[in-house]
Amino acid sequence: MLGVLKEFWSKKTQDRLIKKLYEEYVVPINALESDIARLSDAELRAKTDQFRERLQAGETLDDLLREAFAVVREAAKRVVGMRHFDVQIMGAVVLHQGKIAEMQTGEGKTLVATMPAYLNALTGRGVHIVTVNDYLAKRDRFWMGPIYEFLGLSVGLIQHDSSREERKKAYSCDITYGTNTEFGFDYLRDNMAVRREDIVQRELHYAIIDEVDSILIDEARTPLIISGPAEESTEIYYKIDRVVRRLRQGEHFDIEEKTKAVWLTEEGVREVEKLLHVDNLYEDTGKGTLEHLVRQALRAHHLYRKDVDYVVKNGEVIIVDEFTGRLMHGRRYSDGLHQAIEAKEKLQVKEENQTLASISYQNYFRMYEKICGMTGTAKTEEEEFIFTYGMPVVVIPTNKPLRRTNLQDVIYRTEEEKFEAVVEEIEKLHRQGRPVLVGTVSIEKSERLSRMLHKKGIPHQVLNAKNHEKEAEIIAQAGQRGAVTISTNMAGRGTDIVLGEGVAELGGLHVIGTERHESRRIDNQLRGRAGRQGDPGSSQFFLSLEDDLLRLFGSERIANIMDRFGVERGVPIEHPLVTRMIESAQKKVESYHFGLRKTLLRYDDIMNKQREVIYSQRRMVLFADSVRPFVLQMMEEVVEEILGAYADEKLYPEEWDWEGLDRRLYYLFGWSLRIAEAERPSFDRDKLRELILEKLKTTYQEKVQSVGEDVFREIERYVLLRVVDTHWKDHLHNMDHLREGIGLRAVGQRDPFVEYQLEAFDMFQDMIARIREDTLRYLLRIRVVDKTGGSQSSQVAKASALRSSSQGKEVKSGVSSRITSATSAFPKEGRKKVGRNDPCPCGSGLKYKYCCGKK
Ligand code: ADP
Repeated sequence: MLGVLKEFWSKKTQDRLIKKLYEEYVVPINALESDIARLSDAELRAKTDQFRERLQAGETLDDLLREAFAVVREAAKRVVGMRHFDVQIMGAVVLHQGKIAEMQTGEGKTLVATMPAYLNALTGRGVHIVTVNDYLAKRDRFWMGPIYEFLGLSVGLIQHDSSREERKKAYSCDITYGTNTEFGFDYLRDNMAVRREDIVQRELHYAIIDEVDSILIDEARTPLIISGPAEESTEIYYKIDRVVRRLRQGEHFDIEEKTKAVWLTEEGVREVEKLLHVDNLYEDTGKGTLEHLVRQALRAHHLYRKDVDYVVKNGEVIIVDEFTGRLMHGRRYSDGLHQAIEAKEKLQVKEENQTLASISYQNYFRMYEKICGMTGTAKTEEEEFIFTYGMPVVVIPTNKPLRRTNLQDVIYRTEEEKFEAVVEEIEKLHRQGRPVLVGTVSIEKSERLSRMLHKKGIPHQVLNAKNHEKEAEIIAQAGQRGAVTISTNMAGRGTDIVLGEGVAELGGLHVIGTERHESRRIDNQLRGRAGRQGDPGSSQFFLSLEDDLLRLFGSERIANIMDRFGVERGVPIEHPLVTRMIESAQKKVESYHFGLRKTLLRYDDIMNKQREVIYSQRRMVLFADSVRPFVLQMMEEVVEEILGAYADEKLYPEEWDWEGLDRRLYYLFGWSLRIAEAERPSFDRDKLRELILEKLKTTYQEKVQSVGEDVFREIERYVLLRVVDTHWKDHLHNMDHLREGIGLRAVGQRDPFVEYQLEAFDMFQDMIARIREDTLRYLLRIRVVDKTGGSQSSQVAKASALRSSSQGKEVKSGVSSRITSATSAFPKEGRKKVGRNDPCPCGSGLKYKYCCGKK
């Protein structure tokens, strides 16, 4: 009862909305038509500049809307020979308002987008028109582009194989056509750029998303992933392994057994540099610095024992769970440790695919200042569109009354009976000459049906969303007399089916669904293929009790009904009660999925905020004239942290941890203070702070001078960016594992989300601290190497990490297919005495759990 009332009210609001759209927009725009039609082409074109001037003078887009839309309509008439229908204007207004316009297939959504695109592009800030595949992006760009160009706007197109230069040019246009995938990857790549000129996108201003339900709901959580170089050489691990075998404990390195910490002594650093024939151990290898790899190799040799901590089986290193003794197949130690052990055991070293950057479509599109969308099917998902994106759905009436009949579902006991009936139905319609479109849920079912039709000698086409361009051509023919087309859900989307000659008289296109989808929306999409632009048409679903949806929801009740009616083999039942039961099952599944996405969104939001922080800081670094102020600030923060850790305010200066302090300073900056015991009491925090800062600034200045101010300035920027990228990459990895591990904690009656939030925050803080320290560490260790024999100032100093490895591979991954090997980000408790949150004994100043305690 409540449901009926709700629908009634929503229908009323809906009617009011449409009336308002008509009176406030369509009527005045139509009234402008005759005046605007009298303008010459040049005068029409001049309107664009006038609009821009009026914007400059303080008018708003809303002030211009009616006139601008009238101008676009006139331009469309002259350029592509189409005059926007009144309902298309309504849709266009809805898009401008940042909402979703639900418009049936064939209502001309491509043309609708031209109005809001033109209007919003007048700001000069760029408009993105987003389609689901390259073929549609290109088609729409060349179909609608001439309208904008006629009016003096520039139009760009992004395709999968566009070069960086082409992309940059396309993004600088007023209007840019492309797919959700390309827009998303360009965003990620831009945030990995180490040179300003490599950035291709401008701001994310306004996006019009075609097939919006498919992108923002079906694919919402698909992460776009750029992953790092897996096929790079692994030779370095063997090389380091050979070197490490020659190092002596106590002389070259020290070990703290209980915490599994290892560090190189000064002597050790020199020895390794000699053996590796390098002059800087802090040089990045793309897998971390050499020093890091050496430490991991030392741990592999001296702390991880074969047949205790791991076993070797079939050429693989398999971790042994220290508590249960079970073999943990597929898991890997992180941070290069697993590879180091593989090298130690003389096995083939396997590289893990590293995620360098990732974002979901959902989060990508939420960054635009304004988004809007259009599709034939959105109303059923309105709650989600509002909750997640703040976009209500407005159902736009069709241009001509809809003449499609949706026939009652028919249900068979078995799938076999169902398919036999479908084939019979196709045969019957085919003989009449009526075109039939058959929708299936999978390629496999399409093929099964195809084989059955083949046996009967019925000619047909099969589409499965593999070749968009070719399929668009085929689907365009699907309305011809006698055509039989089998298609999976996605195939041929965005192309409408025009009826061939004489077909309308036969009843138009008939659509057969062979299974109900979990979501009503997908069923509606299929039905929507028939009856476009006032054409006649019909649709019907054929189901069986063996279909997934029915098996899971309510097949027993339906089976009972069938028994009651004494239904025989091959005879279906057809009853409104059954159709209602199916719809209610679908609603249940829909809201279940929505709930799931809501929960996941809460988790995503945390990561998303962190990404925003990192990316925005990264941009500051990239665009600042000099990053020296950042570096100076980092110095102060690092020194403050050092004081916090070693010069406890509550203690007397002579009680401070002076040895720890020196160890830490040496680790970070390459020198220590060595304050004599007698002098210690004369210190207070301020004095110590000043002493360290002054020394730090002096060493820094010396470094700058030895390299040369100009060169160093660029190096500073570069190092900062690379350090951020490296740590961000590790952070992504850790967050993944945090997320995996957190599910288990619900057992302890703790709210996993709260746990996740706290831990994520902690990890982020630690990462920021590590970025500060590493930046300084690297910058202070830069040496100028004369390799060309030229004068020193003309040398490019050999900064750590000067080679960029940021050009990764792109993977558009399903959530479940993420690489989920590697170990938990958490060290196992119970073995060591150092607490997880204590500072790591290796002197890095990080929490133990993120440093040596991390496995
Ligand atoms: P949708 O994306 O809504 O399914 P399309 O944009 O593919 O629809 O357009 C469907 C068809 O309708 C196209 O062949 C187009 O030429 C035609 N069409 C759209 N709008 C108009 C119009 N205002 N006048 C004439 N034909 C139109």
